[in-house]
Amino acid sequence: MNVAIVTVGDELLAGETINTNAAWIAERLTDRGATVERVVTVPDRVADIARIVNEYRAAYDAVVVTGGLGPTHDDCTIEGVGAAFGTPLESNPLVAEWLDENGDYAGDDLVDGTTELPAGAEPLHNDVGVAPGCVIDGVYVLPGVPEEMKAMFATVADAFTGTTTHVATVTVDEPESELLDRFEQLRKQFDVTVGSYPGETVTVKIRGPDPESVDRAAEWFSSRVNRA
Ligand code: ATP
Ligand code: MG
Repeated sequence: MNVAIVTVGDELLAGETINTNAAWIAERLTDRGATVERVVTVPDRVADIARIVNEYRAAYDAVVVTGGLGPTHDDCTIEGVGAAFGTPLESNPLVAEWLDENGDYAGDDLVDGTTELPAGAEPLHNDVGVAPGCVIDGVYVLPGVPEEMKAMFATVADAFTGTTTHVATVTVDEPESELLDRFEQLRKQFDVTVGSYPGETVTVKIRGPDPESVDRAAEWFSSRVNRA
């Protein structure tokens, strides 16, 4: 399945916070066989969130949104997702009940808006923090705080599926430009794709759906290069 990741936050765009959530989610989704088609960062602005969520939910099988979930003034992701679906926000009774039972304080002490979700959304409880996430029609809305995001992602991970890709890595001590002929032969002879990532040495990643083909391709390639 094809998935888009939307990270929300002015601080990400300003370079103040490194977008580790995007990389973490992308890796988990890829491991599960899903294909990540887009990773985009938008500001904490309702219209921008609504526009991108609306575009991506039409284009991809699922959208994962993280950040800006709390009810504080700078957090408007829930409002943006509601706007994408044209649904009003309403206090979700399941969230209030869960927070009453599991939170450290009574529902009355919570900041106004904490229990609000787009109408029709299924809540995702926050075991690590307070603000709930939600799922609405293929859009998964998760917190920005990495620990909260990871814990909540674990509860929905099974929804992301696809064909698992196998990878073999070969590190080569030759200039990348001189490897082009061998890359071409690799692709011709085996059911694999080849990615090369130059640095001091060249890291070559051979990927394909069948583990045996990938292994055979890696052996073939390894025996024809100067390995680092
Ligand atoms: P809260 O309810 O605590 O306000 P939130 O879901 O609203 O959480 P944000 O306000 O967007 O999340 O971000 C809270 C913190 O989480 C940020 O200060 C930042 O440190 C971290 N964070 C947010 N987004 C990301 C991201 N994409 N990658 C890494 N860290 C992030
Ligand atoms: Mg916040």
